[in-house]
Amino acid sequence: MSAVELNDVVKRYGALEVVHSIDLSVVQGEFVVLVGPSGCGKSTTLRMVAGLEDISGGTISIGGRVVNRMAPKDRDVAMVFQNYALYPHLNVAENIAFGLRVRGEKNAVVEAAVSEAATILDLTPYLKRKPADLSGGQRQRVAMGRAIVRKPRVFLFDEPLSNLDAKLRTQMRAEIRRLHNRMGVTSIYVTHDQVEAMTLADRIVVMNSGRVEQVGSPMELFLNPANAFVASFLGSPP
Ligand code: ADP
Ligand code: MG
Repeated sequence: MSAVELNDVVKRYGALEVVHSIDLSVVQGEFVVLVGPSGCGKSTTLRMVAGLEDISGGTISIGGRVVNRMAPKDRDVAMVFQNYALYPHLNVAENIAFGLRVRGEKNAVVEAAVSEAATILDLTPYLKRKPADLSGGQRQRVAMGRAIVRKPRVFLFDEPLSNLDAKLRTQMRAEIRRLHNRMGVTSIYVTHDQVEAMTLADRIVVMNSGRVEQVGSPMELFLNPANAFVASFLGSPP
């Protein structure tokens, strides 16, 4: 059974079709990267999986259940955004705890989960700080903390490292992959950066103009690009 499955998924904004029939099957535990140029439909596709956008056609299943009409909170996914989307008036511990509080979890459960996430993400010394008093890398870790305490089946990442400098980006990339392995989750990760895709992915999905051009392991794509677009996109600097 696939962890996440897209069948003939279409997205239209009014008369404009921006995602044109995507099929994709993500295996449990897999790290899949959607890569392609800006505007090709990566975020829209991810947001449809998260339930943040309605789908105009087709079917999305998560854990074998069709989720087309399911609210985001019921989908067993957690999304990490480029801009972190932290609550500025809450401290780090409260930001990480937010989803569990909304769910009505008991204090002891919330505190244990926050403490565990802080340990995993090296955030223990910063739990009382507000987001404004953190570095970019620390903010991104808080955003990840908020995702992992919910223990979702699927992590969704939308360009989570774009706001970081090159050195931190490389470091956080390795941390994200470690986190994925440690949590035993399934991850779908969106980026326009080919190097990020090549280094993170078990399988890469190359998108262009709302379509999937090719799906394969980094090595398969590197050795056997299906067409000129894939070859030139993967071969050009980010
Ligand atoms: P990517 O994440 O690959 O850069 P997006 O998924 O954000 O691309 O966007 C795909 C296309 O859909 C783009 O042409 C974008 O302009 C269009 N689009 C995205 N959101 C909206 C919206 N709310 N209304 C109309 N068009 C949109
Ligand atoms: Mg995007």
